[in-house]
Amino acid sequence: MAMEKIVRDFKLEDVAYAANMIKESMHFDTYIKDEERMNAFCFFYVYSNLMESTEAHTYEIDGVCRGFIFANHFGDKPMFDENTLKDLMKSHEEKFKSVDEMPYVKKYHAHLEALEKYITEPQKGQITLFGVEKSFQRQGIGTELLRHLSSKHNHERYMVMTDSDCNFAFYEKNHFELVVQGDVELETEVMTKTLTTYVYSRTLFYKNEKHEEDYLVRANANEEIIAWAITSKNLVEHARQIHNLSPICTAALGRSMSAALMMGNNLKNEQDVLTLQFNGNGPMRGLVVSANNKGEVKGYTKETDIILPPNAAQHLNVGGAIGEGTLTVIRDYGLKDPYVSTTQLQTGEIAEDLTYYFASSEQTPSVVALGVLMNKDVTVRRAGGIIVQLMPYCPEASIARLERNLRKLYALTDLLEEGMTPEDMLQFILEGFDVNITEKKPVKFQCNCGRERSEQVLISIGKKELTKLRDEDHEITLNCQFCGSAYHFDEKDIDELINQID
Ligand SMILES: [Zn+2]
Repeated sequence: MAMEKIVRDFKLEDVAYAANMIKESMHFDTYIKDEERMNAFCFFYVYSNLMESTEAHTYEIDGVCRGFIFANHFGDKPMFDENTLKDLMKSHEEKFKSVDEMPYVKKYHAHLEALEKYITEPQKGQITLFGVEKSFQRQGIGTELLRHLSSKHNHERYMVMTDSDCNFAFYEKNHFELVVQGDVELETEVMTKTLTTYVYSRTLFYKNEKHEEDYLVRANANEEIIAWAITSKNLVEHARQIHNLSPICTAALGRSMSAALMMGNNLKNEQDVLTLQFNGNGPMRGLVVSANNKGEVKGYTKETDIILPPNAAQHLNVGGAIGEGTLTVIRDYGLKDPYVSTTQLQTGEIAEDLTYYFASSEQTPSVVALGVLMNKDVTVRRAGGIIVQLMPYCPEASIARLERNLRKLYALTDLLEEGMTPEDMLQFILEGFDVNITEKKPVKFQCNCGRERSEQVLISIGKKELTKLRDEDHEITLNCQFCGSAYHFDEKDIDELINQID
């Protein structure tokens, strides 16, 4: 029988259970007598409930509370109404009478105040208590509770304090960054102990399951940074289907198309075309993508069915499939000669190669992060990317801030897996900057081939060559490499073209 799992509001009857859970899951509480802990918890719960800004949620499996999350939302309102608190404390006098005298409560609050001085980032709230019963940990319950909180406080920065090192992995996995750490003296009737407390913080983000659109946004921050972000799942899946690509080829082409669309956004005129050519000695041999500033992209890989074992990081081995070689960036402004720049491939993983290109050919320090995630059935689950570029004379402090933000970006695919929109990704990577979105544009796979273009191609090979093809083959079929469309010309069609050449 399936287990019933729900997130619900915390109730008074959960207090005893939660207090016990804390005892087992946090060594912090092993220094406090049971009775004290229970009292403190009850006090905390009731006190919290009186603060308009507080919420508490419980994760329940088959009717039993297995985890909980408490959070305070910092606001301008008074934290609580004193009269109501007094009334409530009176009705629970037995539980509360000793709380005020508990040394650990006072010590702990003094300590938090001391730590708060170091938290320079404005915080919208704080996760105050967060626990999952020991035997139910590592099942996603904590993440689900965090997700529930995020759904109510999307895009708000929340902090959490922890002194238990078993939590670090959880917070880091969930993109919290360590803000400050400090020692706290914990003095109880049982013992005195120094605990090191860690403050983690992140902007909460609510996974938007319905976010399926392909679009890019362009933004600037403080006139110091220019940035793009894109989600491109549908167009990458389209390319995978028309070219029948293996997962590695899908990833290589998907990353390149995302990058080309962001770079193409910088082109001045609608007719301008930006092309990226990756040429390598690996089994895929390379790929070609072209984009314009209308949000259109097309592309193909030279080989489509390459399959390789995962790389050392257990990811699709795009670098191995492309191999060593060159990246050529072509900007065609419709003038006689396009601008062409060729650099050596650094890893063949696309993003690193583009970062190197920007640094060496355009003298622009850049951050390029690209990702494609596949489903088990080898369709595309998520795809997208970001490009962040420093304008000349970007101040050192801004560079340092950006570097700090980048440290929490382990892989772009993590952000994509969270369902982030392009705006969300920019907010994540440019946290602390005054981000100004200047453009939002849908993007799609669009080929500009057609019968007329194919006719022009045939006419361009000349009367003599065309007559020879007609007499020998009696028909010509032109296949578009970019989109797989086929254009067929029979003898009569070829004759008409030959007549046009006169
Ligand atoms: Zn085409």
